[in-house]
Amino acid sequence: MTVAASPVTLDDWFVRDLGGLYQPWQAAPAPSPELVALNDELAGELGLDAEDLRKPEGVAVLAGTAVPAGATPVAMAYAGHQFGNYSPRLGDGRALLLGELTDTAGRRRDLHLKGSGRTPFARGGDGLATLGPMLREYVVGEAMHALGIPTTRALAVATTGERVMRERPLLGAVLARVASSHLRVGTFQYAAATGDADLLRRLTEHAIARHHPQAAEAEKPALALLEAVVEAQAALVAQWMDVGFVHGVMNTDNMTISGETIDYGPCAFLDAYDPATVFSSIDHGGRYAFGNQPQAAQWNLARFAESLLTQIEDDPEAAIPAATDVVSSFAERFGRHRSAGLHAKLGLTGEHRELAEELVTLMADQKPDHTRFFRGLSAAARGDTSPVLDLVVDRDAVDAWLSRWRTALESQERPVAESADAMDRVNPVYIPRNHHVEAALDAAVAGDHAPFHQLVDVVSRPYEERPGLEDYAKGDPSATGYTTYCGT
Ligand code: AMP
Ligand code: MG
Repeated sequence: MTVAASPVTLDDWFVRDLGGLYQPWQAAPAPSPELVALNDELAGELGLDAEDLRKPEGVAVLAGTAVPAGATPVAMAYAGHQFGNYSPRLGDGRALLLGELTDTAGRRRDLHLKGSGRTPFARGGDGLATLGPMLREYVVGEAMHALGIPTTRALAVATTGERVMRERPLLGAVLARVASSHLRVGTFQYAAATGDADLLRRLTEHAIARHHPQAAEAEKPALALLEAVVEAQAALVAQWMDVGFVHGVMNTDNMTISGETIDYGPCAFLDAYDPATVFSSIDHGGRYAFGNQPQAAQWNLARFAESLLTQIEDDPEAAIPAATDVVSSFAERFGRHRSAGLHAKLGLTGEHRELAEELVTLMADQKPDHTRFFRGLSAAARGDTSPVLDLVVDRDAVDAWLSRWRTALESQERPVAESADAMDRVNPVYIPRNHHVEAALDAAVAGDHAPFHQLVDVVSRPYEERPGLEDYAKGDPSATGYTTYCGT
């Protein structure tokens, strides 16, 4: 049904442009939708009235039982390499693109539902989602946003009133998600595999117009698009590394063309710094381990490049050298972003690559709590090294590095006190710690939503130390072998 006074009005640019890349579809009915969380700030940014969204008509849109005005809900088609294995037909198995809206800053944003029932892409899946994983996506996405990292964001999570069968019956839920688009590397792989040259051309033009409009001016727009996506992903993954984020399932269908983080499944933040960290229950080989993320991104971008070859040159063979050069530039671009990020985290205004790299090596050896170590450095800059040294075993080795770093800080034009303040603006106090996330989700599933809302509040202001929140800044004392699960 289409509600008369819809609280949301949507456009359908994707649907108009890209016939062949979706199937029109309806969400499954939700017996008794109830809002668990609504993102007031994001609603405001989208120009929506949060109070209207809380009314039954609003909840109906957010849970998928009412179609907003102007909307043509579709299940999007995409392919993807999952852990290196190609699946020609993935697609939105349990999700729908409702349409797009223009936010208060004039940017076009997708409104999308996840957990809204089986679609033609569902394969063996039930098309459903459960409350815990949808709340995880909400809180981790908000944390990433607050950390200044490009990401899709949750507008709302509503329970459906339905029981979903997993290892045991769980509460069904729908996530309403906002993204600058849902175009993925896998969308291009799908379009390329159809062999329909016109479809791939339309997709390329749509992606350029939507995300990288400067590429349209280039001599070879598709090559410029590839370059823009390589750059956006290099910047993104560097930001993940800066905060200790492990995505966990960097399949090509989970990598956006916009450069936003998408699909928070088996993701988590590092406690101890260790490049080999894996949280996902299914990532046995460590393909998507923390330290492998740059290589995984570059591998995905090579798949993106392959899908674009016919758009770069009429003879795809002729496009290979230029495309390969662009994909190879990932390493240099990533290195530049990562180095800039580390310099900022260390309060360094000049170029001190060696010093930064030495620290990374030292951290891999000493494995201190990643977040606390970097936050503690501002105290060290102000003269108290104990917050940092208390996190490591080999205090002498770290102390020796701290002395060299202090010398660098003191040799800068910027006063050390100002550098320490600047560091506190980039090194968070609060991240969504795994044990807090688990506790908040467990409580929510048991009916107590307060710890979840509290955690969202904590991670939404990550840089500002607030009295009473000390526990959220601490590492998990039992933090070994944390496991997260995807597709749940
Ligand atoms: P993900 O691992 O969440 O990125 O999902 C990979 C693919 O599996 C996508 O095509 C999803 O739409 C699909 N999928 C995941 N869970 C389900 C489910 N419960 N029902 C149907 N499709 C699903
Ligand atoms: Mg996915």
